[in-house]
Amino acid sequence: MSSTESINVLGLESEALSQLIVQWGGKPFRARQLSQWIHQRGVDNFDQMTDLAKDFRLRLDAHCVVRGPDVILEKRSVDGTRKWLFDMGKGNAIETVFIPEDDRGTLCISSQAGCTVACPFCSTGYQGFSRNLTTAEIIGQLWHARRALRQDPGAARLGAEGDSARVVSNVVMMGMGEPLLNYDQVLGALRLMVDDHAYGLSRRRVTVSTSGVVPMIDRLARDCPVALAVSLHAPNDALRDRLVPLNRKHPLNELLDACNRYLEYAPRDFITFEYIMLDGVNDSDECARELIEVARRVRCKFNLIPFNPFPQSGLKRSPTARIRLFAQRLMDAGQIVTVRKTRGEDIDAACGQLAGEVQDRTRINERLPDRARIVIRKQERG
Ligand code: SAH
Ligand code: SF4
Repeated sequence: MSSTESINVLGLESEALSQLIVQWGGKPFRARQLSQWIHQRGVDNFDQMTDLAKDFRLRLDAHCVVRGPDVILEKRSVDGTRKWLFDMGKGNAIETVFIPEDDRGTLCISSQAGCTVACPFCSTGYQGFSRNLTTAEIIGQLWHARRALRQDPGAARLGAEGDSARVVSNVVMMGMGEPLLNYDQVLGALRLMVDDHAYGLSRRRVTVSTSGVVPMIDRLARDCPVALAVSLHAPNDALRDRLVPLNRKHPLNELLDACNRYLEYAPRDFITFEYIMLDGVNDSDECARELIEVARRVRCKFNLIPFNPFPQSGLKRSPTARIRLFAQRLMDAGQIVTVRKTRGEDIDAACGQLAGEVQDRTRINERLPDRARIVIRKQERG
């Protein structure tokens, strides 16, 4: 059954699930079994959960559902990248992207429909803010992707030791939204990701990316210290105030101190600093020099992100030679630097384009099925 009153157990952490079962007079270990069925085997029909007693299954069926997000459309890139556009109701859509690599498969998931931070280089920022996602909607992206990839023999080959469920080996909260401004719901999803009876990912393989919500960085350190990426993008407050407006509230000094506090709890011994490469904005030698000073204050690695242009931004990607030189300047100072490869460009799955397609009226009608167009028109009105 699927009445609107039903509890969506997809979003319940192990403790909440145990509580529910104990309330019904059941044994807490049933929660583990249920969690394995839902999250590990991807089963959404209680009747198929054969090691649960029949009356328990009937009770679950009467009061609960396992409901993942509705897919509006799915795309595959020639490079193996896959993207899902999910319907979040009331005209909202979010995206999830799967990026296969030789030794891992990374799922990039969203935490909010839109974002309040409004960074001028980010197409999600241009969308404004609609709402926070629930834990069920956040974990539902991983749940759905694993189910879809399990049915895909091409993707299954990537799974460790033939276990296709491991195709998603890493999760990054780098989709739409600022995860630390939706703290409680994101925390619930993170706990499910690292729970051995749910997804069992190691904390090192789950990354939260934040624009710098300092108080929540401290809370995350205590509650569920996963790997942390900080969207730095500028080496000083004057520039960062413009590129990441949240900097006006939590300036660089405060942010760097929070990074150092986080390192005491982090599963990795460094913070990843993301730095978007914007032509003539933050890619000068002077910026590199200042950045080296910043880097001396925190154990970190740099991930330089070539900007993905979109029409409204008026910004340009730094030329490849400039990105290379910028990386070299940092490396010459002893920093560890990677330059992010752009993936899935043919399906607009590349970083920063997550909302772009939903908003782009000019191309949208050629490319999306009817249902998606409805979502987009509603968004335009909203
Ligand atoms: N709100 C969080 C997480 C989502 S954004 C944050 O800002 O960290 C994830 C990453 O995508 C961030 O580093 C962000 O700066 C980057 N990004 C956003 N728009 C982009 C674009 N147009 N091109 C390249 N990277 C972009
Ligand atoms: Fe929000 Fe991150 Fe985009 Fe900035 S880069 S607008 S914080 S999603």
